[in-house]
Amino acid sequence: MVRIRNLYFGYSRRVPLFENLSLDLERGHIYGLLGKNGAGKTTLLKNMVGLAFPLSGTCLVDERPAAARLPVTLEDLFFLPEEQYAPALTAEQFVAHTGGFYPRFSASQFYDYLAELEVPRQRKLNQLSHGQSKKFMIAFALAVNTGLLVMDEPTNGLDIPSKAQFRRLLAAALTEERCLIISTHQVRDLDALIDTVLVVHNREIVLNSGLDELAERLSFTVGAVPAGTAEPLYAETTAAGPAAIRPNDGSGYGRVDMELLFNALISGDSAVLTHLHQTQLSHAAVR
Ligand code: ADP
Repeated sequence: MVRIRNLYFGYSRRVPLFENLSLDLERGHIYGLLGKNGAGKTTLLKNMVGLAFPLSGTCLVDERPAAARLPVTLEDLFFLPEEQYAPALTAEQFVAHTGGFYPRFSASQFYDYLAELEVPRQRKLNQLSHGQSKKFMIAFALAVNTGLLVMDEPTNGLDIPSKAQFRRLLAAALTEERCLIISTHQVRDLDALIDTVLVVHNREIVLNSGLDELAERLSFTVGAVPAGTAEPLYAETTAAGPAAIRPNDGSGYGRVDMELLFNALISGDSAVLTHLHQTQLSHAAVR
């Protein structure tokens, strides 16, 4: 669905943010794009949806350059930016203004999502709280039913119950026809939601891997481990006790601790990545 080849992008030519970056994203997946603040997540997403233009290389959506912003591309993609302008419109008025741009938009689905997210339908968007207006736009983003849905930090500003509702709605919205991409710097927000993790760090995609593949190759522990357990590839101390990543010895699959994995990847210690390379994980489709 999204094919990025040899992307070179910088806000100025002299300071490149991405050099020679390549990435493929397929339908039927929910991707989590993780990176520290300022790592380049928003910029990468904007290149994908045709709001920032590569200096060289290509970003294709369904084989068409995103930067061309063709109607056929735009009607099948929705980008939810981190900050959204809130016009003085009720849900019905917003539908009348915007729904027509998306052939598969469903007003009844939108109103159902609003009800589920407890957003008052009669109130104007600019009179909603920050969290409510965020949920309003999430409901709309899901109801347009586009093949590509890109959300930039959608959980920022949501309270804990709303984050759980968000995860539920997103999981239900995934079909074989859709490709969902969610960026965050709050890794835990995507727990139990995404199936593929992308990590952007130091201007590169350092990891592009399915959670199943990761669970097959790595084991994550918090707390004491039995004597004789393999040496950790990465370890840190958390509030819950010592946490570590080790090679999976094949004794079973556990849950991938995305926060620990993320910390390991950005720590500068390459042992986890080296292990993934050695076990031939299909990762880092870059350079
Ligand atoms: P993230 O979404 O991961 O927080 P961004 O893509 O927003 O990161 O930013 C990546 C880098 O690009 C940062 O160093 C940021 O300061 C810079 N940047 C972002 N937008 C602009 C812009 N419009 N002009 C110049 N620099 C920018």
